Amino acid sequence: MGFGFLNVTHIGSSLCCFLVTKAEYENLLKRIQDKLGDTDKESSTRFELPVVDVMWEGQKTFLRNFSEFPKVLRRDPDKVLQYLSKEFAVPAERLGDKAMFIGRRAPDDFTRLFQIYVKDYLECTTCKSPDTKILKENRISFLICEACGAKSTLKGKYA
Ligand SMILES: [Zn+2]
Repeated sequence: MGFGFLNVTHIGSSLCCFLVTKAEYENLLKRIQDKLGDTDKESSTRFELPVVDVMWEGQKTFLRNFSEFPKVLRRDPDKVLQYLSKEFAVPAERLGDKAMFIGRRAPDDFTRLFQIYVKDYLECTTCKSPDTKILKENRISFLICEACGAKSTLKGKYA
């Protein structure tokens, strides 16, 4: 993202230093717009997860910013907690915005699970958009894409 921005400023600054014909200028403008268009597309398809904030207390792990994840993922907090609990195979409990897990877990463990969650519970299999919702029909969960309308069976087990 930062790289794309640098490129654009570079073109912008060369505009100030060189005389360009109208055709060249329009060509440049188009190239800048293409670049900006690309950047927009990239940032909307790449899913930004919050940074995991973990604290340990004895043999317990607290995910202090747990509530941020269901919000960004647009999924039921109970389902997200259930997913983490099942994947870690330990009991878990919600305490306000925090979540408590039995045993010590590294922040990377959470990050990895959330990345898998995005792949298995969020990403449209057709267009890779994370803008999806889960629909349950006869106890089978489907993923409905709000971007392309595709309906696919959910990869994840804990929906
Ligand atoms: Zn889609």
